[in-house]
Amino acid sequence: MHRERVPHAYLFTGISGIGKTRTAKAFCMTLNCAAPSGLDGCGVCPSCRKILNGNFPDFMTISPDGQKIKIEQIRELNRSLGYAPFSGGFRVCVIHRAEAMTGEAANAFLKTLEEPPPGNIFVLNATEPRDLLPTIVSRCQRVSFRPLKTEEIVRQLNKRTNLDGSSVAVLARASNGSLGRALIMGESNYLERRGIWLKKLFELYAHSSAEAMNMAVESAKETRVGLDLPGNKKVGLFDLLSVWATWYRDLLLVRAGAPMGLLINGDFREQLEKIALGVPLQNLIESFHQVDRAVRDLHRMRNTTLVLENTVLNLRKLGRT
Ligand SMILES: [Zn+2]
Repeated sequence: MHRERVPHAYLFTGISGIGKTRTAKAFCMTLNCAAPSGLDGCGVCPSCRKILNGNFPDFMTISPDGQKIKIEQIRELNRSLGYAPFSGGFRVCVIHRAEAMTGEAANAFLKTLEEPPPGNIFVLNATEPRDLLPTIVSRCQRVSFRPLKTEEIVRQLNKRTNLDGSSVAVLARASNGSLGRALIMGESNYLERRGIWLKKLFELYAHSSAEAMNMAVESAKETRVGLDLPGNKKVGLFDLLSVWATWYRDLLLVRAGAPMGLLINGDFREQLEKIALGVPLQNLIESFHQVDRAVRDLHRMRNTTLVLENTVLNLRKLGRT
């Protein structure tokens, strides 16, 4: 790599947890390494070691403060950029969820991109690049990251965790190709909660409507969080709904005669088969939409119990033949 000719801004796109930040770090190593070999940093020189240990002064990151990246954060970034890189090499600034910049912040950042101080390289990470200013996108070299294959996530989970084979299989499929998400799920109580949530669902069809109401009220006590929310590592209500969505997705697949290997909840194969054959296809599709609608309603409405009562009662009705 000719260090003098590297573009000064990159846009890394793709879901979180598939290596965007890791790549930015590797890039920073290559640019600052005392003895780079080809496209890689050596991993042992002082710069490489500092980058790997997270204490390299010229590797900067910005993340949303709450939901947004604010103008103050961009101003602070600009002040830091006023100094030449401390190490004498390149400074790499990673902006996580760049699409979360407020309008003001985005306009201020655009000015920085138009006249970047020398020696600075920007890496914008975005899951929704369409939400970025087109004028920002057009100034960046775009690199898209694809979700990982299930087998690759299985391999990594086996290498990095002590989870048993059946847990690894569930996480690899439920993480939608994101190793980062799979690891967070593995560290949390996701698997344990998932078992409880699925049990609630297949008991639902045998419930009276009063029992179903109870189940809804109990479920509504989950915290309104989810592992997909940026920066959150607690399992909650949105995970419950995403588990329920995988359940109906699986039922549709079983009904369609898809190979068992495609099921996310393959460990519940028997229950899936029993239910899939007893419920009309149209009802399974409608159940899937019900769960999807519940997620959207929860983002709009404060009354969790009301949303869950509606959802659970409808799901119960749709399970009757
Ligand atoms: Zn090195």
